[in-house]
Amino acid sequence: MLGKVVSIIALSAALLDGSMKAALPDKNIDGNVFLVNRQHALSKVYSPAVRKVIGPGMSQSMRDDAAAALEEMFAAAKADGITLSIVSGYRSYSKQSTIYSRKKASQGQEAADRVSARPGTSEHQLGMAMDVARKGSSQLNTKFGTTAEGKWVSANAHRFGFIIRYLEDYEDVTGYMYEPWHVRYVGKEHAQRLYECGLPMEMYMSGFKLEVYDYLIHQVTNE
Ligand SMILES: [Zn+2]
Repeated sequence: MLGKVVSIIALSAALLDGSMKAALPDKNIDGNVFLVNRQHALSKVYSPAVRKVIGPGMSQSMRDDAAAALEEMFAAAKADGITLSIVSGYRSYSKQSTIYSRKKASQGQEAADRVSARPGTSEHQLGMAMDVARKGSSQLNTKFGTTAEGKWVSANAHRFGFIIRYLEDYEDVTGYMYEPWHVRYVGKEHAQRLYECGLPMEMYMSGFKLEVYDYLIHQVTNE
């Protein structure tokens, strides 16, 4: 356990001075606020324990805590007359590799990079992200944000520990266009704070870093 705490402190220090550009160590990924983006990649061999998410739509998996939270969110949406549908959850490194290559072949690298993550840099590999859609639809586009379903997700996802990861107007920070359909599990505490500050995870992680790391260390030492 001491080793784990030490590695988290080392990770914190690396992030604090901005020198952390390499892959995050896989052993730290079971936390809720690990940042995965173009600068913070997962290794080829990282594959979390996942299970099937129960709900309408495609057969997809997530990490157990994220899956349970998503099922709870879908049930709450339904109680409000909103039916959400599962589109895409956990993706292995090799699956992401195939998706990215296909996009690159059809649209060119620049266009592919705006909408698709290079292998290792997708949150879907964490098993903590899900793309959701309206019932009977698997279309993922920005119009989802203007539908009753999209508005419900935007207003309520944080109550279940999810954030809209790629916010409108923050493409320069996140590296991705607005994706109202992509929810990332971060746990209720962080989701609530992220919802309140309205900032992308990248900015939250730097603005609240000490608090976040205190929380991580606290969590680890209480195992
Ligand atoms: Zn997604």
